[in-house]
Amino acid sequence: MSGRLAVVGLGPGDARWLTPEAEVALAEAEALYGYAGYLDRVPPRAGQSRHPSDNREEQARARAALAAAATGAKVALVTAGDPGVFAMAAAVCEAIEHGPAAWRSLDVAMIPGVTAMLAVAARVGAPLGHDFCALSLSDNLKPWETIERRLDAAAGAGFVLALYNPISRARPWQLGKAFELLRRHLPGATPVVFGRAVGRTDERVMITTLLEADAVQADMATLIIVGSAATRLVARPDLPPLVYTPRAGEASA
Ligand code: SAH
Repeated sequence: MSGRLAVVGLGPGDARWLTPEAEVALAEAEALYGYAGYLDRVPPRAGQSRHPSDNREEQARARAALAAAATGAKVALVTAGDPGVFAMAAAVCEAIEHGPAAWRSLDVAMIPGVTAMLAVAARVGAPLGHDFCALSLSDNLKPWETIERRLDAAAGAGFVLALYNPISRARPWQLGKAFELLRRHLPGATPVVFGRAVGRTDERVMITTLLEADAVQADMATLIIVGSAATRLVARPDLPPLVYTPRAGEASA
C-alpha cells in the first residue's frame, strides 16, 4: 500500500483564504511537515504527528515528507500561499526526480493556495489587471546577475512586477539595487505597493511611487508590486486610492 503526500498551500494567513480542499487535506493527514512558522498556523488535531523544520532546509524537508509517505502514511507538507510559487512543490518534484524509484509511485497531490501577490493586489484594486510577472529577489538559489537581467527585461517589456522575497538579513542591499534599476525603465510616478503580512493581524499595506520607494519599508514578510507605465491611481474621497492596470491601452514602457 502506498501512502499519500499532499503539498498544501495555506494561503497568505487569513483562515478564510484556506480552500476547502486544503482543509480536507489537513484534516486527513496523519503526519504534518513544514516550516515551524507555517505549521503553527494549523490547529492541533488529536492523533496527528507534527514535524516542524527550519525554513532553509527545503530539500531535507521534502525528502522527510516523501519518506514518511512511502511508509504508507497520509502526509501533509504545508507551505504559505501557494505551494507552487517559490515554495515546496518544486522541492518535492526535485526530491522525487533524484530520489528512490519507489517515490515515483506515491500518490502526490499539490493543493493550490492563494499566493501572496493575489492577496496584496486584492487589497489595493487591480494592479495585476494586465500582463505581469513574478520574480523572487532571493539570490540564494540563482546569481544576482540573473535577477538584474530579468528585472531589466520585464520592466523594459512593460510587465507589472510582483517581487517575492524582497529582503532579508542576509540580503540587505538587493531591493535598493532593484529599485535603482527599475527607475531607469519607469517614470518616478509609477505606483508601487508594499503589502506586508497580508491577511494576518500585523498586516500593513502602503501605496507609494517608484521615486519614493525605499527598501527600509520592506521586510521578509513583504510582497512588492511595481506597476508598469500604464498603472494608475484612482483617487476617492475619504478612501484609499484604487491602484489598477488597465486591460487595454499602452503596450509597454
Ligand atoms: N508560496 C508563497 C511564497 C513563498 S516566498 C506564496 O505563494 O505566497 C516568501 C515570500 O512570499 C515573502 O518573502 C513575501 O514576499 C511573500 N509573502 C508570503 N506571505 C505573505 C503575506 N501574507 N503578505 C505579503 N507577502 C507575503
